[in-house]
Parts: sequence; C-alpha cells; structure tokens
Amino acid sequence: MKQVRDYDVEKLMVATVASHTALQLLRAAKKTGFRTAAICLTDNKPFYEKFGFIDEIYTAAVDTLDKLAPKLAERNTVFIPHGSFVEYCGPKKAQSFKVPFFGTRQLIEVEADQRRKMMLLREAGIPTPEEYSSPEEAEPPVIIKLAGAKGGAGYFLAFTKQELEAKTRNLNQPYIIQRYIIGVGVYMHYFASQMFRRVEVFGADTRYETNVDGRVFGLAEPSFVVVGNRPLVIRESLLPRYMRFGEQFASAVEDTLGTPMIGPFCLETIITDKFEIKCFEFSGRIVAGTNVYMGTGSPYSVLYFDKPMDMGERIAHELKVAAEKNCLEKITS
Ligand code: AMP
Repeated sequence: MKQVRDYDVEKLMVATVASHTALQLLRAAKKTGFRTAAICLTDNKPFYEKFGFIDEIYTAAVDTLDKLAPKLAERNTVFIPHGSFVEYCGPKKAQSFKVPFFGTRQLIEVEADQRRKMMLLREAGIPTPEEYSSPEEAEPPVIIKLAGAKGGAGYFLAFTKQELEAKTRNLNQPYIIQRYIIGVGVYMHYFASQMFRRVEVFGADTRYETNVDGRVFGLAEPSFVVVGNRPLVIRESLLPRYMRFGEQFASAVEDTLGTPMIGPFCLETIITDKFEIKCFEFSGRIVAGTNVYMGTGSPYSVLYFDKPMDMGERIAHELKVAAEKNCLEKITS
C-alpha cells in the first residue's frame, strides 16, 4: 500500500468518518485547498451530500472499512480520526486502519483502557481525582466508571459507603472508583504542533449533559449523557496552569509511547471552588466540543496566528505547512 513518504503532496486528500467533527474538519480542509472525503459508516450519506465542500463520499460497513484503505492511500489521503470513528469501529480496529492518521495513533489503545489512561495523566504530573482500589477503602462521594463506558453512559455516583456497596455488590464487569470532584467541568482543547514545535492552548468548552443539566426536578439519578457542548472562556489567571498541563501531557506521551503528540487533544477537568484543577480524562484527538468554534474560530487561536481559527482550520494549516516542507511523516502516524 502507498506510504505517506510516497504521497503526492500537491494532491492531498483529507478524509474522516462522517459524524462528530466531520463538517468542521472537511469544510476547513476544502477551504485550505485539499480534496475532501467523508466515509459514511451509517445511513447518513444523504445528509453529508448536502455540503459542497465534500468532494467524495464513501460508504462502508465497519467490517469492510479496511478494503477502502488502499484506495484512500492511493489518493494521497490523510485520515483524521475522531471519537465516533473509534466508537463505531472499536479501538482495535480503529487503531489498525492503515491510512496515515493525522495524530498519534497509539493513544487509541491507551484511551480505551481506564487504568492506562489515568496512569498516563499521572505520569504527566497532572492532578487527577483520587482512585480507590476497592469499595471498602473508598471515601464517598465517588463516581463509579464501568470499563467500557462512553460519553458518560455507564457512570454512576454513590454518596455514602452503603450506597457504594449496594451499587457495586452485583457488578460483574471491571470498573474504577474515583473520588467525585465537586466543581465545574472545563474541557480544555490543545493543539500539539510539530511544525511550530509547541503546544497551543486552543479553546475550551463545557458539556450539556442530560440528567445533570436538564430539568430533572429530582426525578432522575444524575447521568452524564452528552447531547451537546457550550463555549467557555476561563479566568486568565487559570490559563498558565492549563498551558503547563498541556505541555506536560505532550511530553508524557512522547516519553511513555516513544512517539510525539501530534495535533489536537483535550484535557477534561473539574475546577473546584478552591481553584484546584483535577483532570479525570483526556482525549488524544479532536473533541466534539471544538465544534462550538466552527467558522468563528476559538478565542485563544488568535494568540498564535492573529486570526481566529477553528480546530479544523488549525489542522488544515498544519497539514499545509508540512506538505510545503515535504515532511508529512512528522505529522502522521
Ligand atoms: P466523561 O465521559 O469521562 O467525559 O465523563 C462524563 C462526565 O462525568 C463529565 O462531564 C464529568 O462531569 C463527570 N465526571 C467524570 N469523572 C468525574 C469525577 N472524578 N468527578 C466529578 N465528575 C466527574
């Protein structure tokens, strides 16, 4: 199969799975001068056909996706992985999809494993919520996370020891117990640039989650099922700490995986009323929360380029610079 070093950099195509941040990514790629492709893994082709900035639409099933790889590589495609791609395919299949990824491929398997994921954050020296190895030693309030939980579904809370014991007694799948941090959620978006040799703090969002943000009137247990995102700017005095955490994260990726952090990532944090920042999760690629800045640009992007950019535009810019320098292998994996 054609390798990235053999790509015709004048004829690059940017592809992603049609969902999540596909509109943001492909709109920006087209505007920057690349060909674009959307890969539909569900029956959403009629929706994506409505947008003129998508040049090619492929339909595939999760099981037939691999067959597309040689064709995409032949067309000089850089593929942008995102959360829905990983969710549809499962981490193993997603990580082994053979088209060059814009991003750090190896992070998919780390993220799929709650324990490895938290370990990487700790290795980065980023404060995380306390974790307990058994219900007996836990100090509620706690949040219990089932191993394969996604988008907040499969999380539940316990406010007392009795409640925790009752809720875990018959659980016959792996889970972790974390201290429940009382505060507000801040999802900080970053961009690790190999071309400019820096980590950029890019923007932030907060989530809109069903039974914690909804009109629940005490009728439902808290649940964290994400339905959307809202833009957020944080106090400037908190930014230096977030900047450090982003840099520490990128260094820890390189130290532990032996391969650099490439492109967008997100640190998902709670800030307490004492201004403690606790990171309970990361995403090693573009997060859907970046969609809040689609077309308008994020507030912090102007600090680097003196013009607003959304994350799709930032990625396209990095690709363009790498293509011009003929070093696509530095920003793909
Ligand atoms: P996630 O799907 O991991 O992004 O988490 C879903 C939601 O659970 C987040 O939006 C947080 O509000 C909440 N959450 C996860 N872990 C913790 C924690 N240790 N303390 C407080 N809230 C948490």
